[in-house]
Amino acid sequence: MSDVISTRTVCCKLRVESAADATLRTTQAAFNAAATYCATVAWDQNITNKNTLHHVVYGATRAQFGLGAQLACCARDKAAEAVRAARSNHRASCPSFRDDGSIRYDARTYRLMPLDRVSLNTLTGRVVCQLDLGDFQRQYLYDLTWKIGGAELIRRANVWYLCLTQSKQVPGPDEPMGVLGVDLGIVNLATDSDGETFSGAQVEKVRERYHVRRQRLQAVGTRNSKRRLRKLSGRERRFQKHVNHVISKRLVAKAAKGCKALSLEELTHIRENVTVRHTQRRRHSSWAFAQLRSHISYKAVLAGVRVVFVDPCNTSRTCSACGFCDKRNRKTQSHFQCLSCGFVAVADVNAACNIADRASVNLPMASDPRVQMQAASL
Ligand SMILES: [Zn+2]
Repeated sequence: MSDVISTRTVCCKLRVESAADATLRTTQAAFNAAATYCATVAWDQNITNKNTLHHVVYGATRAQFGLGAQLACCARDKAAEAVRAARSNHRASCPSFRDDGSIRYDARTYRLMPLDRVSLNTLTGRVVCQLDLGDFQRQYLYDLTWKIGGAELIRRANVWYLCLTQSKQVPGPDEPMGVLGVDLGIVNLATDSDGETFSGAQVEKVRERYHVRRQRLQAVGTRNSKRRLRKLSGRERRFQKHVNHVISKRLVAKAAKGCKALSLEELTHIRENVTVRHTQRRRHSSWAFAQLRSHISYKAVLAGVRVVFVDPCNTSRTCSACGFCDKRNRKTQSHFQCLSCGFVAVADVNAACNIADRASVNLPMASDPRVQMQAASL
């Protein structure tokens, strides 16, 4: 198997002195104005290639917005990538960037220094800031098996953060000996084809509590309540991320231990194919399935586990024992009973088994030594 590149992002809080803060704000505004200009040019002239764009915008970016040579290139790259993404998503209008958007840094525009400091390029030379590292960030940044690449400087609620990208070459996955299917859902956040379930009940209780508190704060509308709302949304986001980490870690570890591939439905399923009662709509749309899926994907890469995405069509209506497909097979949300062969199962487990089956059809499997021995003795 060939190697694959795994990437991860480490976000670090910055301690910025007031003079540096002012400089960074000015730079941030100029950088994003320049990126918006580059995007407009790329959009209007239909340019997708960075080099072509460079020749068209470079002079103006420097003269009009006062960016140095290197930051001008970073603004161009940010713009070019946004335009390309907008085109491939068939967006109707050109992307633009707010004054307080992020600044992109690359190897030539920022430098990590001893004692957890970082030097950042600005409109007026470099500023040096202190990285405020927790144990987690330190452990990540000082792990020399990961190579540090570019970074994004962002400002959230008047605090600066530097998000550094790290990458590492890891061996590609071995050929699996089987497939662990995973069904993502609302009542059960995840169910695997071994029958293990990650219930959404506990999560839902916490989210409900946040929701009530948020409504109360929104009704108050004072400055203090707005500040508390912001805090609340941060806490809710972190809680959600934590749950997704726990589930993805468990699933990937299980697949790795059994030398199995993981299979998931293509994500569109969750929003499009499920009928949702009105009371469930809020929790339904807000739960971060996309995040859970991306957590599973990147952890799988690191663990050498292959991930396969399968067609989600009818996975919950098809019998995993005989293949008979009928809407009425699924009696209730949780109960599956096949009208043809009588097979009975927990509905989500049945779906997970179908998801596993669909993946194993097209997947080259490592030959099981036991199977080979049986064949030899025939
Ligand atoms: Zn059946």
